Amino acid sequence: MVALRGSGPLKLGGTMQVSVAGAESNVAIGLARLGHAVRWAGAVGDDEAGALVLRTLRAEGVEVSGAALDPGAPTGLLLFEPRLPEVTRVHYYRAGSAGSRLTADAVEDAFAAAPPRVLHLTGITPALSATARSAAARALRLARGHGSLVCLDVNFRARLWTAEEATAVLREWVPSVDVLIASDDELPLCLPDGPAARDGATGPPTTGPAAAGAAAAELDARAEALLDLGVGEVVVKRGAAGATVFGRDLPDGPLHRPATPVRAVDAVGAGDAFVAGYLSALLDGEGPAGRLERAVTTGAFAVASHGDWEGAPTRAELGMLGAPPGTVVR
Ligand code: ADP
Repeated sequence: MVALRGSGPLKLGGTMQVSVAGAESNVAIGLARLGHAVRWAGAVGDDEAGALVLRTLRAEGVEVSGAALDPGAPTGLLLFEPRLPEVTRVHYYRAGSAGSRLTADAVEDAFAAAPPRVLHLTGITPALSATARSAAARALRLARGHGSLVCLDVNFRARLWTAEEATAVLREWVPSVDVLIASDDELPLCLPDGPAARDGATGPPTTGPAAAGAAAAELDARAEALLDLGVGEVVVKRGAAGATVFGRDLPDGPLHRPATPVRAVDAVGAGDAFVAGYLSALLDGEGPAGRLERAVTTGAFAVASHGDWEGAPTRAELGMLGAPPGTVVR
């Protein structure tokens, strides 16, 4: 999508900055910045906005030769409205857009050149339309057939589909997923008892150590259930609290990593940056601790920078976050 970013209440008008955004594009750029070969499968309109999307991806080193140009629909649009320092509203104009009309054929093209080592999908694509859902399912099948690792970021968008609809799709996908990335409240959407489990997670508000213990036990049980269904590893994103990875082969049980402390200026895109860091380390052959370390680093870069992907680090920049305040790099 094309992204317009304002600086205050949208209804007051004013100037907006033009950029591009979208979860998968953010991950693709994050990985390309870290030096990986990345191919993007998607659709844009045959219009100037679509040209901006493809040009930006290309400029960032993302391969887009498999991208589809849809002459019958516009490129999707979203408006970012920073409403309070900590609250950004996002307004989408993508119903009927080229991206939401993605078809399975477009995905075939992206696989045609060479099968990837990793396929990254989000739970946004299947929520867009029936054809987009079949495109994502086709990509999943192709990845399985070619022996590519499958990463899924659940990214539940309540404005696009209901929890029940999401569960119906995601629980079918789960046995084919190697790396499942989600926030803790999204895990139930991937389990057979779906939203019912989700309601349990958000039950009556309780506080104190007993409640925290119960929540941790519930998270453990859900991650365990996903591992039992065949998921290779479950990575839970916890915002400023960091992230935890659950897996079968972790000698000391789930591995937690606190977030890297930064001055947060824009939380949008943190999850996608986190995924890019995690997959980058995975592609480099790092174990779970190394993957989490890079993921919290790239996640922190995203919250410390304006824009969804603009602040994504190159490999050489990864060490910058530990620098003391006032550091000048010459
Ligand atoms: P999403 O954007 O998908 O909701 P999160 O908000 O959980 O994802 O953020 C993803 C990751 O980004 C976190 O696991 C953490 O490592 C990092 N992160 C998020 N917020 C902050 C923050 N305020 N400070 C430092 N790191 C953060």
